[in-house]
Amino acid sequence: MASSTTAVITAVIDQLKTVFSSKVVTPDVESEYQAAVAVPWSQTCWTPAAGYVYLDNVQELTEALEIVKKTETKFTIRTTGHNPNTGFSSADETAIILDIRQLQAKELGSDGVARVGSGNTWGEVYAWLEEQKMSAIGGRDQQVGLGGFLLGGGMGALPNLYGLGADGVRNFEVLLADGRLVNANAKENADLYRALKGGGSNFGIVTRFDLETHPLINVQYTINLYNPEDHVEINKATVAVQNAMEKDPKIGLFTNFNNGFVAVGLLYGDIPAEQTAAFEPFYNLKSLMTTVLPSTSGTLLSLAQAMGHKQEAKKRAICTMTTKVSQELYEDVYKLWAEVCKTLPADAVLHYTIQPFGKAGVQAGKDRGDNIMGHESIPQCWWVFTCEWPQEGSDDAAAQKAVATMAESVESLASEKELLLDFKCMSFANAHQKVLRSYGADNVERMQETAAKYDPEGVFQKLQHGGFLLRDNI
Ligand SMILES: Cc1cc2nc3c(=O)[nH]c(=O)nc-3n(C[C@H](O)[C@H](O)[C@H](O)COP(=O)(O)OP(=O)(O)OC[C@H]3O[C@@H](n4cnc5c(N)ncnc54)[C@H](O)[C@@H]3O)c2cc1C
Repeated sequence: MASSTTAVITAVIDQLKTVFSSKVVTPDVESEYQAAVAVPWSQTCWTPAAGYVYLDNVQELTEALEIVKKTETKFTIRTTGHNPNTGFSSADETAIILDIRQLQAKELGSDGVARVGSGNTWGEVYAWLEEQKMSAIGGRDQQVGLGGFLLGGGMGALPNLYGLGADGVRNFEVLLADGRLVNANAKENADLYRALKGGGSNFGIVTRFDLETHPLINVQYTINLYNPEDHVEINKATVAVQNAMEKDPKIGLFTNFNNGFVAVGLLYGDIPAEQTAAFEPFYNLKSLMTTVLPSTSGTLLSLAQAMGHKQEAKKRAICTMTTKVSQELYEDVYKLWAEVCKTLPADAVLHYTIQPFGKAGVQAGKDRGDNIMGHESIPQCWWVFTCEWPQEGSDDAAAQKAVATMAESVESLASEKELLLDFKCMSFANAHQKVLRSYGADNVERMQETAAKYDPEGVFQKLQHGGFLLRDNI
C-alpha cells in the first residue's frame, strides 16, 4: 500500500476512534481484530480490513458514513457476511468495514407489519415472530442476515406461496449518501422501493425492513439422502415435483447433488393429514440411503434451525445460472458435474443445487408492486454451484475455475436447447457474473436513474469496496 494511502487510512481510523472509541477494531487489539476478520462464512473473505466499526444504531451509522464520505474512504457494509465473494462483505487494508449486525430492532405494528433492523438474522426474526404466532417470508438458514438476502431477492423455503423475500418488504428505511433517512414504499419514493427489491447495495444502506406478516405458517418437511448413481430417477422426480409446484404453491423443493449423496428437501406449507402425493416420485425411489431429517410438522423457524447448523470454516466459491425446467438438461448438468469433479484436488468438494421457482412466485411479486429483477412468468430453476475447499492445501484457482466452468457450460448447454433464462440471482452469483444486466435493459435504466436521483454524487458507486454495483455490473 502506498505511504500516502496508509497516511489517509490512519487519519480516518483516528477520526473514527475519536467518535466511536472501542467500537473501532484495528490490528493493535490482536484477538478482537482476528475475530472481526473471521466473521464471514467463507474464508475467501477473511481478508484483513484497515478497521472494523461496530455500529449500534442508525445515528452512529449516519456519523460513520459521513466520515467515510468526507474522507473518501472505501467502505463495506456487513451484516452476517454470508456472501462468499471476496470484497463484498469484506475489505482489504485500504478500506473499512461498517458492521451493522447490531441494528436489531424488532417491532410488530398494529397494521401487522414487522419492522425489523437490518442486522437481524432470519433465525432471530422467525423466533420473535413465532412467539406472536406470525411468520414472514425469509431464508432457509437461520444464520443468514436480512440485509443481503432481501436486497438480493431472497429465495425462501416456499417461494411460490407469497413470492420472494424482497417481494414481502412493505417498506425499506434507507440511509442515503447525503445523510437523510428516508422511507421507500409503494407511496413514498416508489422508484427507490422497486429498485431495492433485488437491486442490492447500489442506492443506500437499508437500516430497517418492514415486512409483510402472515398468520403462523406451518411447514411439513423432510430431508432425504439418495444415491447419486440413481441420478436419472432423481432428476425425473425433481422435474415431477417442479411440475406439481405449478399446481400447488404450498410445495417447496431443493435437490442438492453432493459428494456421495443427493440431499432432497421436500417441503410443504401446511400440515396435511396424509403424505403429500406430489412427493411420491421421491418416496418411491429405491436409491434412498437415509433420511437425515424425518418428516417433521414444524414452522419456518424449526426448518431454518434444522438447516442452519454452523459449518466448518472453509474457502467457498459460488456461481449461478437460471434455466427452464427440463429433465434432459438436468441430466446433462449431472454428467457435466461428474466430469468437473474429476478435475478438482481431493480436498475440494463441488456440489450444486436445483432451486425451483414457479409462475405463482413470479405473480406474487407482481401483485406486490413488482421488483426490479425482471423474472419471466414461467417455471424455472435457479442453479447454484458451490465449491468448498480448505484454507491450507488446496488450489484456489482450480476451485474457482470449477464453479465458473459449471456456470459457463450450463449456460451453453441450456442455450443450445433454448432453455436459458437471462436472470441471475444476486445471492448465488459469482462476483464476475453480470447480475444487474441480467434484469434486462429497462430495469438497468430504472436502477441507473434511481441511483442518480438518490445518490447524485455516486458515493455508493465510488466508495463501496465491492458488490454487484452499477459501476461495473451492467
Ligand atoms: C449457508 C447459507 C445459506 C443461504 N441460504 C439462502 C437461502 O435460503 N435463500 C437465499 O436467497 N439465499 C441464501 N443464501 C445466500 C444469502 O442470501 C446471501 O449470501 C446474502 O448476501 C447474505 O446476506 P447477509 O446480509 O447475511 O450477508 P453479507 O455478506 O453481510 O451481505 C451481503 C451483501 O449485501 C450488502 N448488504 C448487507 N446488508 C445491507 C444493508 N442493510 N444495506 C445495504 N447493503 C447491505 C453487503 O455490503 C454485501 O455486499 C445463503 C447463503 C449461505 C452462506
